[in-house]
Amino acid sequence: KFITLEGGEGVGKSTNLQFITGWLRDRDIAFIQTREPGGTPLAEELRELLLCNRDEAVDPTAELLMVFAARAQHIARVIEPALARGDWVICDRFTDATYAYQGGGRQLDRTLIAQLEQTVQGDLRPDRVLLLDLDPQTGLARAADIGAADRFENEQLAFFLRVRAAYRERAEAAPESYAVIDASQPLEQVQRQLQTELERLVLP
Ligand code: C5P
Repeated sequence: KFITLEGGEGVGKSTNLQFITGWLRDRDIAFIQTREPGGTPLAEELRELLLCNRDEAVDPTAELLMVFAARAQHIARVIEPALARGDWVICDRFTDATYAYQGGGRQLDRTLIAQLEQTVQGDLRPDRVLLLDLDPQTGLARAADIGAADRFENEQLAFFLRVRAAYRERAEAAPESYAVIDASQPLEQVQRQLQTELERLVLP
């Protein structure tokens, strides 16, 4: 099973990833945990290049191609081998983040993203996307408390509103592939919903 966890800034991805991997470990389900951009040494280098603050303005198409360059490497070296072994893959962000950040946030053409998706991934798609949905005002306040700072934290609220809208749009267009979880709820409730999703995924 290929499961991705998605959401905007400060939605609680890290905490909930720990919950998911703990749940899998308790059930002796073989899995790998990985992330995007990143997941291999080369892809992690691309991540650093992508996230670091720099004087040079980054062209949105250059950003898009870096994300997909990292993804191609990640799929070939990590994701496909794991799925071929029968391991579950738990991935912190994947292509939905590209539609959300580069498509929604940067307003790049979705058909271009879809073309790259097809070229880089072929038929590979997540079995289930767990989308932690939260209004960006709340999320950014949470992220500021944690002290997370990268090139994207300089964006204005409007950018993050577009990111959220793009995520939700994708979930609404293919509800069978997405679980949209209200991340403004207390953590126990979020995790109860995550558990329901995981239980559904282990059923034959
Ligand atoms: O998942 P995490 O919050 O660590 O991601 C780091 C940053 O990378 C996020 O702030 C997000 O804005 C950015 N990102 C992006 N485009 C992607 C994936 C991540 O802009 N496709």
